[in-house]
Amino acid sequence: MKYLVVANWKMNPQTLVKAKKLFSIVKKGIGAVKGVEVVVCPPFVYLSKLSGLTLGAQNCFWEDEGAFTGEISPFMLKDIGCKYVIIGHSERRRYFNETCAIVNKKLKAALTNNLKPILCIDSINQVKRGLKGISKKEIKKIVIAYEPIFAIGTGKACSISKAKKMNFSIRKILEEEAAILYGGSVNSKNAKDFIEKAQFQGLLIGGTSLNPKEFVKIIKKVSQV
Ligand code: PEP
Repeated sequence: MKYLVVANWKMNPQTLVKAKKLFSIVKKGIGAVKGVEVVVCPPFVYLSKLSGLTLGAQNCFWEDEGAFTGEISPFMLKDIGCKYVIIGHSERRRYFNETCAIVNKKLKAALTNNLKPILCIDSINQVKRGLKGISKKEIKKIVIAYEPIFAIGTGKACSISKAKKMNFSIRKILEEEAAILYGGSVNSKNAKDFIEKAQFQGLLIGGTSLNPKEFVKIIKKVSQV
């Protein structure tokens, strides 16, 4: 089994030149690392300018095309080579009023377009409501990221015991061998514990993914597990 490490660059960096530089340092740094799939999720505008690592988007709309000014469809993302898409990140729920019903529609649209969704949740309720009406066969294709809100961008990661408990509770609901990631203030010091001790299948990394040296260090540590 391969671990999954996902970089969520959020709305960073500010220029294409900086985005290319960051991407190329990570690409060179990880080289032919074994046992880890690395996914980079840059802002939409950089997606078609980066290549050589697996790409993911940070969001998508639920329709494939049409009069939806400002939106990006899962069809378009697939067309430009994206493999993954983050759906329901807490910042989208908070600043853009994304409800579980919206998240559910986006998940279904991503699956229809053969994009692998990374569903971000911070409660069991969000797992249940997000996955409503999605078949067991389709749920297998979804990656779940447990991201406790208090830990996102705060430098205060979740305790290993609480994270492990949540990991097991989510798995119980899914009744399947699901890929469940941990996200929230991951750094090179705590990364390995979330894999080894809390038994997650990978990590979703925000702030630290903008520091290529630290990010590469995390990937190397995960590959040693
Ligand atoms: C995130 O935004 O998904 C995240 C985990 O952020 P950070 O690593 O900065 O806490």
